[in-house]
Amino acid sequence: MAQIRARMRRLSKAPRTWPCPVCGKRGRRYAFREQQAVDAGLGRPAVLKVRVGLYAARCECQKVFESFHPELPKGWKFSRRVRELAVNGVVRDKLSVEDVRCRLREEFRVHVCEGCVHKWLAEAGGENQS
Ligand SMILES: [Zn+2]
Repeated sequence: MAQIRARMRRLSKAPRTWPCPVCGKRGRRYAFREQQAVDAGLGRPAVLKVRVGLYAARCECQKVFESFHPELPKGWKFSRRVRELAVNGVVRDKLSVEDVRCRLREEFRVHVCEGCVHKWLAEAGGENQS
């Protein structure tokens, strides 16, 4: 069987300066960091790579902080695209969590655990309320 290569999507969010998340005073970029997550591409495995910046603070809140891309906030193992597919499957298409996991697995080659889908649903609900 032929090896299927993963599709790669690259994003970058690392301008020269970035506001401190506490006070908003801009720090200067001194390095880059690459984040990687599971992405959703129809019919084949996909990987999302996001380059963010590390910033030296010019305030007293914290010494360093980093930028983030809305498609992949820090700590996410799956891209926002994967999360939205899961949440839309349940909320819009009225599928069960198990059916959504099956769809992600068969159509997008993405394996997510049941707990992840429940967590994303809860987070999406919270976002809608605020
Ligand atoms: Zn600050």
